[in-house]
Amino acid sequence: MTDTSFYRSNAIILKSEPLRSTSMRFIFHTEEFGRIIASLKGFFKNKAYITMPVSPGTEVELVFFNTRKNSMMMVKEINLLSVPRVKNFNHLASLQYFIEFMLNVTTDTLREHNAIYKLFISLKDLIVEVDDELSLLFATAYAHEIIALKILGFLSSPDECAVCGIKTPETYFLISDMSFCCRKCSQGKKNILISLEICSFISTLMKDNITPKRLRSLFSKIKLSNNQFHELQILLKHLTHGVFGHDFRSSKILSAKQ
Ligand SMILES: [Zn+2]
Repeated sequence: MTDTSFYRSNAIILKSEPLRSTSMRFIFHTEEFGRIIASLKGFFKNKAYITMPVSPGTEVELVFFNTRKNSMMMVKEINLLSVPRVKNFNHLASLQYFIEFMLNVTTDTLREHNAIYKLFISLKDLIVEVDDELSLLFATAYAHEIIALKILGFLSSPDECAVCGIKTPETYFLISDMSFCCRKCSQGKKNILISLEICSFISTLMKDNITPKRLRSLFSKIKLSNNQFHELQILLKHLTHGVFGHDFRSSKILSAKQ
């Protein structure tokens, strides 16, 4: 990016916080450029902005330019596209989970930012369509995480062994390698046995072009038990540790709820 041009992109607000007395600082995930940090000068002086929702999950159209100062961008124009449709606390918690994941995913230089953007937009609306049952909301959040990890290339298919390549009847997750393998290849390494139900849940999500419609029908068919949810949670904990170096949910509201 050169510092003379303006850039235009749709973006999701991941974080917004007041900066000094009149400005607002944002972290956006933009469709075109991935994650950017940008400030909007005079935010609190402008009547048009005061009434504008800037909570995380809000989708906006953005015009910004590069200041070359601390990699901070400057927002020239921001227009509201959509606000998250939050119905109740469970929805808010699920949305918060999405946002936390996005904040962590986008800390790295991201090549697939466009696909991640589309995934977020389609699943954000899905969370308000699913039943109020907490387990389904978490299934949606976990699905988002699994698909995003796949898009970013951090997750291999659980259907075949990543070491020897055979189709495996029994799948293990190798913690050090962050991949799925067969019983034989798991020997002597720290591993977790993955149940058939979780394997099929993950491999369905790994298939190409998973749409909100297909996800909805998947969730209506698959009823994960508490034990299976727990299993999925442990697996994702290891994955996020491996990818991000820490587990983003450990200090958050969601870990307290589960
Ligand atoms: Zn093997």
